[in-house]
Amino acid sequence: MAYSTNASKNKRRKLLVVEDNDINREMLCAILDGEGFEVMEAENGEVGLALLEQEYEDLSLVLLDVYMPVCDGFEFLERKRGDRRFDSVPVIVATASEAREDEIACLKLGANDFIVKPYNTEIMMNRISNTVHLRESASLVNQLTWDTLTNLYSREFFYRRVDSVFTSMGDDLQFDMVCSDIVNFKSLNDRYGRQNCDQLLQDLAARLEELLPGYVVGGRIGADTFAFLVTHQPDHTWVSAIADVSKGLLGTSLSVKFGVVENVDRQLSVSLTCDRAIMALERIKKTFGVDVAWYNDKLREQQHMENTILESMETALDEHQFTVYYQPKHDLKGNRTGGAEALVRWIHPTLGFVSPGDFIPIFERSGFITQLDLYVCEEVCKEIRRCVELGLPVVPISFNASQLDFDDEDFAKKIVALTDAYGIDRTLLHVEVTETACSENPDRVIALLAELRDFGFHVELDDFGSGYSSLASLNMLPLDVMKLDMSIIQQASQLDDFRIVHSAIQMAQFLNLETVAEGVETQDEVRKLKELECGKIQGYFYSKPLMGKDFETYLAKEA
Ligand code: C2E
Ligand code: CA
Ligand code: CA
Repeated sequence: MAYSTNASKNKRRKLLVVEDNDINREMLCAILDGEGFEVMEAENGEVGLALLEQEYEDLSLVLLDVYMPVCDGFEFLERKRGDRRFDSVPVIVATASEAREDEIACLKLGANDFIVKPYNTEIMMNRISNTVHLRESASLVNQLTWDTLTNLYSREFFYRRVDSVFTSMGDDLQFDMVCSDIVNFKSLNDRYGRQNCDQLLQDLAARLEELLPGYVVGGRIGADTFAFLVTHQPDHTWVSAIADVSKGLLGTSLSVKFGVVENVDRQLSVSLTCDRAIMALERIKKTFGVDVAWYNDKLREQQHMENTILESMETALDEHQFTVYYQPKHDLKGNRTGGAEALVRWIHPTLGFVSPGDFIPIFERSGFITQLDLYVCEEVCKEIRRCVELGLPVVPISFNASQLDFDDEDFAKKIVALTDAYGIDRTLLHVEVTETACSENPDRVIALLAELRDFGFHVELDDFGSGYSSLASLNMLPLDVMKLDMSIIQQASQLDDFRIVHSAIQMAQFLNLETVAEGVETQDEVRKLKELECGKIQGYFYSKPLMGKDFETYLAKEA
């Protein structure tokens, strides 16, 4: 038999057998002794724990019975888990063949594997040698097993634990993967301090371990990202169980989001499964009132599309698949075009037209956006140059900058180099930034915007009113133009109540900023905005974004 060859290797390896049935115990000991193990015996958990205390440093394995007098297997596991010194000693539990609930309960308590009674010697020896081997090869990373802050498994170990749960449990049992993430954890850290946030992570992990029905194992797989393997919950019972999980933790503003992969496919790696749960979760990060998202076919397709996009973006840039369109901004006072915004378009060879709303976020995540933004900026310079050469009325054109552009210390200098290369008056180039782009590192962004303005470029604040805006940040940012987001224009129009738009325009005037209203579609809106002394209007009412040639024709009409 294959395992017999291990007999010599097993010399010096100590094994503890905890079993109340004398005959079973003696039989086990005889087999293990024959395999070269040094065997210690305990007739119940209490005695077993005492031996564990004495011998844990040299023990290779515990073989544990579940039902015993005095202190049963569950209690043994629970007390063993309470003492970190014993983490390095694996436990194989012996259960009755139909005791599925026992197995799950033991897994939760940290058991490593199972053998079924009555014992089959060959299976048992293989499982023992696998577990011992696994543990010995893992002993070096033992210190990394637990996350000391939350008591959850660390990432790598969580993946391994889940794998071993999958191999030790029958295929008929289904599992769900639940990942959690705290919204804006970084800013909470800044606001409440590290110590409070550590406490928050600790409390949250403990609550989730307690609240999640069917909980099997949990891991901390990112700074504020936890993953939990639970037995499949067909009725989503845990959604209501965790509804109030963040209540009372660190003030009222805390928001915890969950992503779920149901009926986990065991063929996939655990890390990919977690990625999928997190992907589902990312989609609801900014959605107020929705805290749980499931990974589904639609997301699978999106992921497929995301991969296609990531694989083809560099080629697309090299092959000029990106085209820049220009949407006029109409100057209400002069009643003529007073500017334009550059908006990128991508006709993908296999996907067809892809909306910027779909690919920009992917580029932002991958970092590719910085290359695209510079590309668009260069195209804008070329377009302005062409307008000058064609003798058309020349208007300033803005391009969109992303948060990541601000991480580049040379961003402003690169823009200068481009305008210089095409001989463009710098005041003709505007840079659109959003407030969120400024939220990460305000000092840095303020310095960079100031630098851009010192060079002569104009800065426009994009999407004002779309989310959380504060007068304070508005006052701090070096700006020339405020763009009112289309959502506040359209809402005002629907409710026939322009008071918010009015006060936004007044605020801009107070700060000496020019105003541009976005997404204006009707004559009525134009009339209202004119009354409120809005400066410029951008929207379908005047024009959709136009190809370069069409934009030139548009300008030519005003020449
Ligand atoms: P944004 O900067 O807020 O651009 C305005 C969006 O509103 C554009 O969508 C534009 O086509 C659309 N729009 C303009 N007028 C109207 C209207 O009257 N009604 C309606 N319903 N929509 C109108 P688009 O071109 O799909 O761009 C979406 C977003 O993608 C942009 O929002 C911007 O954040 C981003 N984006 C586009 N081009 C670039 C780029 O070159 N770089 C970066 N970083 N982001 C870009
Ligand atoms: Ca914009
Ligand atoms: Ca906008």
